[in-house]
Amino acid sequence: MFEDIPVDVSPMYEGERIRAANMFVELAGPKSIGAELVQVEEDVEDGKVEVIGPNLNEMKEGEIYPFGLLIEIKGEKLEKELEGVIERRTHELCNYIKGFMHLNQRDQIWCRVSKEAKDAGFQLEHLGKALSILFKEEFPIIEEISIKVLTETEKVESFLANATQQYEERDSKARELSDEDVDVFYGCVMCQSFAPTHTCVVTPDRTALCGAINWFDCRAAAKMDPDGPIFEIEKGECLDEVKGEYVNVNTVMADRTQGTVDRVYLHSVFGYPHTSCGCFEAVAFYIPELDGVGIVDRDFKGETPLGIPFSAMAGQCSGGKQVEGFAGLSLEYMRSPKFLQADGGYERIIWLPKAIKDSLLDFIPEEMVDKIPTEEDANSIKEIRKFLREHDHPVMARLKASKEAAVEETVEEVVEEETLTEANFIAEEDVPMTQVAYAPELSLPSNGGVKIIFKNAKIYAEKVIIKRK
Ligand code: SF4
Repeated sequence: MFEDIPVDVSPMYEGERIRAANMFVELAGPKSIGAELVQVEEDVEDGKVEVIGPNLNEMKEGEIYPFGLLIEIKGEKLEKELEGVIERRTHELCNYIKGFMHLNQRDQIWCRVSKEAKDAGFQLEHLGKALSILFKEEFPIIEEISIKVLTETEKVESFLANATQQYEERDSKARELSDEDVDVFYGCVMCQSFAPTHTCVVTPDRTALCGAINWFDCRAAAKMDPDGPIFEIEKGECLDEVKGEYVNVNTVMADRTQGTVDRVYLHSVFGYPHTSCGCFEAVAFYIPELDGVGIVDRDFKGETPLGIPFSAMAGQCSGGKQVEGFAGLSLEYMRSPKFLQADGGYERIIWLPKAIKDSLLDFIPEEMVDKIPTEEDANSIKEIRKFLREHDHPVMARLKASKEAAVEETVEEVVEEETLTEANFIAEEDVPMTQVAYAPELSLPSNGGVKIIFKNAKIYAEKVIIKRK
């Protein structure tokens, strides 16, 4: 079946990583542009593969090129609503090709071709040919398929503009619905090949964290293939409307994550946040010093206020982990009226990259727009604190209230200590412990030739004493 393709094609190559040293060229990715798009069409020339722009044998080793992948499909049972879900499989199917690496989705794709694949004679038409076969195998309802691979800058630019418009149409349709309007949510386990304890819960108000699959897409996919990776979750009993905790969601999470995760809050980064796979578009992260939440997306190249870039932060919370204080999310979820509602929504957001902020101006509450700093306003905790104070961000009132409460508590406890008797002494194990800080990585100073590093450290204390210097 793949005899014309000079490299192996098999699911066994799915986890293959092509490092810079072994890379012939990079296609799309953070230093270029690119997109992938599946379109259901009336007129499709089955099996046709076109390469528009330089092919691999015309590219220079080590260079980066723009890259577009247009997949046109036709089939009696194919619906427009299936485009998003079929498109999301491009990631997995491209990775079946030995020597071709595909990351992310939509206009975030990032691909590499290995030197070995190039030396074996692999060209871009082989990519198209392999995908045509694999898509038809995976989705028997695809009767005809044709593929265009674009590498010419101008063509990729106009393709990207069209693709962006298509993504927006899909997303805006999902915005018309809310969680209260439906009886069914959906689960997706497509990313379990690399994040075995990850299950996405997709609701009308919470688009999947890859940003490529919304509630309508899931509905169409589950209808087409009820035993596939996308499945129904009866909404059932709601335990906490604000946090977004549901009995059935918890049960499905426990079942699909082999018991690793049995509780999930859909709308909070605290307590039991949603698990994160690795293809999330952005990460929400807690900034304990200011009791607020920052957001960083994968396009942001600088350091976050935590002193690490997106890639390092993603490493801390991806792979299907549930890490309190962190949550992978889609940019579309930031347009949801339920966006981190249990944490205060935008009133709790204290930092985000300017590019995201600009793209969300219609969705951030008007009174909050000027109060949230970006990298152009503040970067360190000190600078952010100053900005928040000057712009009267609601988090400052929250900080002040919690400091006053802590001071009051200390005063009360000092008085109590003075009158403490053996009779009212509280046993140590009865003292309630409160989490006061969280750090994804914490190193302790050492002097014995060893270094102690705590991963995902949570610091608990019986009492926090704040003293004026
Ligand atoms: Fe499915 Fe979630 Fe992975 Fe998207 S991020 S493909 S919805 S598991």
